[in-house]
Amino acid sequence: MGGRYAQTPCHPNGQPHAPGLMPPTISSEAPSARHRQSHASASRRQAAPAPETPNEAAARIFYDLMEAAGHPSCYHCIHDLKIESRRQVAGSHGAVFSQYAHGLKPQIPTSLPSVPGLITIPFTPKFVTGQTLHGVSLAEILDFRDVLDDPRERVLDNSLNKIFLTIEHPGYPPVVKQISGNCPHRPVSRFNLAFSIAEAYHTYFTGNQFNPTQVPPNSPVVRSVTQIRLVNLYTMDRTNFRAHVAYVF
Ligand SMILES: [Zn+2]
Repeated sequence: MGGRYAQTPCHPNGQPHAPGLMPPTISSEAPSARHRQSHASASRRQAAPAPETPNEAAARIFYDLMEAAGHPSCYHCIHDLKIESRRQVAGSHGAVFSQYAHGLKPQIPTSLPSVPGLITIPFTPKFVTGQTLHGVSLAEILDFRDVLDDPRERVLDNSLNKIFLTIEHPGYPPVVKQISGNCPHRPVSRFNLAFSIAEAYHTYFTGNQFNPTQVPPNSPVVRSVTQIRLVNLYTMDRTNFRAHVAYVF
């Protein structure tokens, strides 16, 4: 295996091919960078305060949101606020993942298991003229791009609280991760569910060692969230879920 897109391309600025959840650097066009340059001589004597990184900005916004919400203790509600803080930072610092957006690259859907009683939650892409899209790009979801149909719709039964997502890809160990679902305070939205799945996949690819000897011959090699489109979430028992995806190589 080793097609051109078997591994996520390196960004021209030299960033590693598996990008962090937030941009590691701020564009040189950013006001803070200009500010830093204009004080270059002063900084020789006294170090200028480092500009706030996107992660720091997200943390600051998150604590403000927690405060405004009265410091909820519910995991699901807290996760919503984390997503909201990320949304605000993405809006002010620009896209990170969408540089890998899939455009007209071939999208290769996997098959949804054909078993009676399968429950599916679809992630239908917004219509784009002239394109056949399979699901939504996890890269674009992480950048809060407006690519998902009915993003605010509730998607799980009221009874559903715990969702366990199994992720399994050639060369990586299988992992089961709990992600945020409904809680008594609000139903999870389709977008936030997609975001939690994208986050889980990002952590999966960045937090586990890739082992090429564990890749069976002729299996697709996926090494980054930027190569995956989410088509459906599916389950047999309403607790243990897997993602039905399409690959982009
Ligand atoms: Zn809650």
